Amino acid sequence: MVTQHDAVIVGAGFGGMGAGIQLKRMGLDDIVILEREDDLGGTWHVNRYPGLAVDIASVTYSYSFEPNPYWSRLFAPGNELERYAHHVADKYDLRRHMRFGTVVDGARWDEENRHWVVSVAGGEQITARYLLTATGFLSQPHTPDIPGIETFAGTVMHTTAWDGDRDLTGARAAVIGTGATAVQLVPELARVVDDLTVYQRTPIWVVPKLDVPIPRVVQRLFARVPFTQKIARAISTSILEAVMVSAVLHFRQAKFLNRGAALAAKAHLRRQVPDPGLRRRLTPDYDFGCKRPTFSNTYFRTFTRPDVHLESASIDRIEPDRIVTVDGREREIDTLVLATGFDLWKTNFPAIEVIGRDGRNLGKWWRENRFQAYEGVAVPHFPNFLTLNSPYAYSGLSYFTTIESQMKHIERLLSEVARRNADTFEVTERANTDFLDRMTSNLDDSVFYRGSCATSRSYYFNPHGEAALLRPTSTINAFREARAFPLEDYAIK
Ligand code: NAP
Repeated sequence: MVTQHDAVIVGAGFGGMGAGIQLKRMGLDDIVILEREDDLGGTWHVNRYPGLAVDIASVTYSYSFEPNPYWSRLFAPGNELERYAHHVADKYDLRRHMRFGTVVDGARWDEENRHWVVSVAGGEQITARYLLTATGFLSQPHTPDIPGIETFAGTVMHTTAWDGDRDLTGARAAVIGTGATAVQLVPELARVVDDLTVYQRTPIWVVPKLDVPIPRVVQRLFARVPFTQKIARAISTSILEAVMVSAVLHFRQAKFLNRGAALAAKAHLRRQVPDPGLRRRLTPDYDFGCKRPTFSNTYFRTFTRPDVHLESASIDRIEPDRIVTVDGREREIDTLVLATGFDLWKTNFPAIEVIGRDGRNLGKWWRENRFQAYEGVAVPHFPNFLTLNSPYAYSGLSYFTTIESQMKHIERLLSEVARRNADTFEVTERANTDFLDRMTSNLDDSVFYRGSCATSRSYYFNPHGEAALLRPTSTINAFREARAFPLEDYAIK
């Protein structure tokens, strides 16, 4: 069986594009990027709900090697992110490698031919020497199985399937969920609809968003003197890093920083919501950082509008024209918005079936053992495979930190494979176990294990109760290891 391509990358979001750029830099030009959606951009193509914006400063939430001097705001709106993704695809000549509307069913390692066989819906099989999955962390929408939800007769929209053509003026709407998406959506929706009820199961920590337009003169400065934008990036990245590393990962040593962040969020709530009863219901009872904190200047205030209601009683059932809570109260609605997030641990790790050496099924193995991936990218028994959205892969708060450190890992690993003129690489059991032990031990200092997270219902935790999503190290450490991991951690043959 002939090996058709150097590599197949699954996913044409920022992660898949970063991997593609890296492979092309290394001379691996025969690559195919498979994407189930009808265009590139991942999250920023799929999500179109009102209020969509980045909540990590745009100078940081972008490739460091491809700065965009023209972000309109400190936190760019979603459509600018999508435009940026298209710009990158064009500039780095990625588009000709992409196939859209291509759903990957699974991939199987073919030991005899030493390549991956990737199965695509419709029956086509594509073979490639390397397989890289960049299917995102938050890409499998979660629809809650609330009794009666399928009987609802009005408009139902998950936030990942927003119908921008539908006029919601005058609607009686309900939003289920109060995660980062709802925090952005609710204030915008409240402006349009006639009446809005927000069903909250778990309150969320919200801190102010220091968002301002970036004046033209600054944009021109960034364009003419790129070094100035580099400084802005360094400052914003350092602030994020301090929050993440100190307040979340080093909770044991720096509890006061975590408490400070919680106090800032509470003061923000006090400024926006005068009613102590409403404030109490909006205040989380778990530590800051157990769940991804959010940023908004308008979310809390929206609940003081007379036409917006916070419902914190659990939903009992949904009927064709109403939502009924467990205390028997009913609210008539015609529009139901599901801001209910994503399935991470059930369906996303991995997002496709991946069968490695000796028939090992990655999803099954992770579930029967522990979720693990060496440096967040490699798994024993899976030769020539890099899984870019894996347990312990997410580093820092900006996804671009993860992407760029993984690009460094790819560079070091595949350069060595080329230097030795080898066919395959596979991480050793020992290296993988050592990495998992180290991550587990680092987590011991974090808010996840030292703080009070039991009531947070955070997707940072897997079904085994381990906080196995984020890499519990500084991003400096992630970059250092990506550039200098011991080559003997891989069997290169
Ligand atoms: P999420 O954080 O997982 O929130 C989902 C919400 O739906 C939660 O409030 C959850 O309640 C609720 N929910 C789920 N099933 C429910 C049920 N059966 N009954 C009642 N409530 C239910 O999802 P998200 O808001 O879409 O955000 C996901 C992530 O996307 C964020 O954490 C962030 O990383 C990313 N994001 C980023 C940005 C950005 O600007 N960069 C913007 C939006 C999203 P519980 O908490 O009780 O489970």
